Amino acid sequence: MIGFHRFQIGDFAAVTVNDGQFAREAGIFFGSVPDAELEPVLAANGLTRDAVPSWFDPLYLDTGQHKVIVDTGNGAERGGQIMTNLQAAGIDPADIDTVIITHAHVDHIGGNTTPDGMLAFPNARYYIGRDEWNYWTSSEVLNLRPERAPLLRRNLSDIERVFTFVEGEAEIVPGIQAIPTPGHSPGHIALLVAGAMLHVGDALHQPLHAEYPDWSASFDTYPDVAPAARRKLMKMAVEQNLRVFGFHFPFPGYGRVTPKGATWTWQPEL
Ligand SMILES: [Zn+2]
Repeated sequence: MIGFHRFQIGDFAAVTVNDGQFAREAGIFFGSVPDAELEPVLAANGLTRDAVPSWFDPLYLDTGQHKVIVDTGNGAERGGQIMTNLQAAGIDPADIDTVIITHAHVDHIGGNTTPDGMLAFPNARYYIGRDEWNYWTSSEVLNLRPERAPLLRRNLSDIERVFTFVEGEAEIVPGIQAIPTPGHSPGHIALLVAGAMLHVGDALHQPLHAEYPDWSASFDTYPDVAPAARRKLMKMAVEQNLRVFGFHFPFPGYGRVTPKGATWTWQPEL
């Protein structure tokens, strides 16, 4: 498996750090779409309903002032490869001063801590949207998902002391700005990086979401709200000529979107 990929975003040095790869049933990505509509599109794109390939792509950024990781992956006990591949790229987790969480699904926060509860990035400030924090640390949500609660607690509330909560379009560190994009989760944030790339997080869960922004994923907390977030991001990418990076897009995760009819289409750069 490819472990890491270096590239440049404006003045920032970037490394996509592979946390793993999976293939899941298409309903995970496009749960709201009837089979008759979905299957021809999958076939035309070389995909089958039973196994749509997907990746986990945490992103390392060296801004010159800050060393940043965006999302921490699944965590070692769930098979996450981030630590192995950071090491392969010559990046010491102790040198990372900023951890940015796009949203609190387990494949994005599972590597916040080690399996024994130590901070995986011991010298970092961790950032997350305030609405996202409030939702995933609420007793209602923890009681609804008792099987998830220990992992959520270990990677969120148990380490609350290291977190800073992001509101609105805050600049998290110079050159990295939050873009509130609720839908996939209540307080999901996308990121504008170096004025040159839009990290869409899971607002687009699969590249076909550029062309079919209304096809919400089973994992979307608010499937009726998620399409507006996708459209906002795609418009912004075209208007500002931004690269697009998706956490679950084919490794190394980045490409361009161009208008196609009333929507858009995504092209990987590599
Ligand atoms: Zn995800």
